[in-house]
Amino acid sequence: MPGSIKKQLDWPEKIMHYLGRSFLCPCCGRKHTLKIKKIVHSEDALNEISAFIIRFCGKGKKILLLADENTYRVAGARLEKTLPLFFPLSTLILKPEGEKYLTAREEYLPAILKRAEGHSLLVTVGSGTITDLGKYAGHLLKIPVLSVPTAASMNAYTSGVVALIRNNLKVAFPVRPVLAVFIDSCIVRNTPLPLIQAGFADSLARSSAQADWQMDCLFSRQPYCGLAEILVKKVEEKYLRCGKALVNRDPSTLDLVMQSLTLGGLSMLVVGNSAPASGAEHLVSHFWDMYSHLRNKEVFAYHGLQVGLGIILTSCIYHRLAGLSTREVSVRLKSFSPANEEKLKEVFSLFPSAQESIRQQWEQKQKVLSVCRSALHEFWPEIKNRICHTVHPPEEIKSALSAAGCPVVPEQIGIPYQLGIQAVRLSRYLRSRVTVLDVAAELGLLEELQQQGFWNRK
Ligand SMILES: [Zn+2]
Ligand SMILES: [Zn+2]
Repeated sequence: MPGSIKKQLDWPEKIMHYLGRSFLCPCCGRKHTLKIKKIVHSEDALNEISAFIIRFCGKGKKILLLADENTYRVAGARLEKTLPLFFPLSTLILKPEGEKYLTAREEYLPAILKRAEGHSLLVTVGSGTITDLGKYAGHLLKIPVLSVPTAASMNAYTSGVVALIRNNLKVAFPVRPVLAVFIDSCIVRNTPLPLIQAGFADSLARSSAQADWQMDCLFSRQPYCGLAEILVKKVEEKYLRCGKALVNRDPSTLDLVMQSLTLGGLSMLVVGNSAPASGAEHLVSHFWDMYSHLRNKEVFAYHGLQVGLGIILTSCIYHRLAGLSTREVSVRLKSFSPANEEKLKEVFSLFPSAQESIRQQWEQKQKVLSVCRSALHEFWPEIKNRICHTVHPPEEIKSALSAAGCPVVPEQIGIPYQLGIQAVRLSRYLRSRVTVLDVAAELGLLEELQQQGFWNRK
């Protein structure tokens, strides 16, 4: 293509150097392994796929290309012309069955697995749904997967987990990450606006997610790794206040959001869990998703847009926590009890078919939660003076999301007020990891803050 930028876009050099290798972490001193061998982010990234496959997998490999109707049009058709010059290629275009849009339902897997039989490589062309279905199929078949992202909408291209819908419940499974990611910046710059907004909002979860993770590490005495923060923070600073430019499709802002999402996925891969990019703000979105799935309804909005509302909430809570003295914390802990059994009953009545898994998650959390309860006042100076200040202030988050045209109150995406509030009070019962929602609940702050309003209802 004349005039194309052939060089790789500007990425943190260090991390590109670590791809495909094990290394001693400069932050936590432990050994990390990045199994992804290559990330290409340029205007002609797709032209590098054949050479990569020949080098890392060998010649003549039988490839299955997985796409949906849109992503086939956007990138799949192009690959269908170039890859067969070197490899036998078949294509599977997934179509929604019994639903308006394709979602990552487990029911699609048998067809993918059957079609992939006899193939030695899977190439996923798409965003969240196609990537997760492909990653899981590749994991089950023990064949490598290459990812060709078509939208800057989420961070799972480089992560080691997939989120699938099983029995109307979203379940996360650890999987082998993809072997390489080829991001065509021209394709990604044409992402439909709602998907861009979702990606932008999802990427902003980093600061509160990492604060949650630091608190969980304090209570559980697990090591925290600051590499994840270093990896993404610098890039995030470059686009955090560029919401308007994003809506106007400024190419360099879009490139930065894509880069941040990709690094966010890598940060989860480095530490082996989702904590660096997913905390309480994701739990709130998960609560709304569960509510929709179990009623056989479509989700309220794209993942990232729901997460954005969760970030407003968590940043408000962190802001409030930063104002509490150690003495106030001790007094509150003694005088307040969160009435957990009563609230669990409320959760069960909302999600009756998920009762058993919710009970399990809640029981798993008890050990760390009891440390939080008994030693919170001892940890408080660390939480108040250091951790709370790593979270973006609520005003900053709200103005970033507003500038990008993202929803800032649940009603904007059709979430009724009551359901919004239920997520605040009850989503902490869904997952075993301790987050800021648990800390706020133990201190009797959730109800109090709820009355003041998180999302400034209009
Ligand atoms: Zn580390
Ligand atoms: Zn997310």
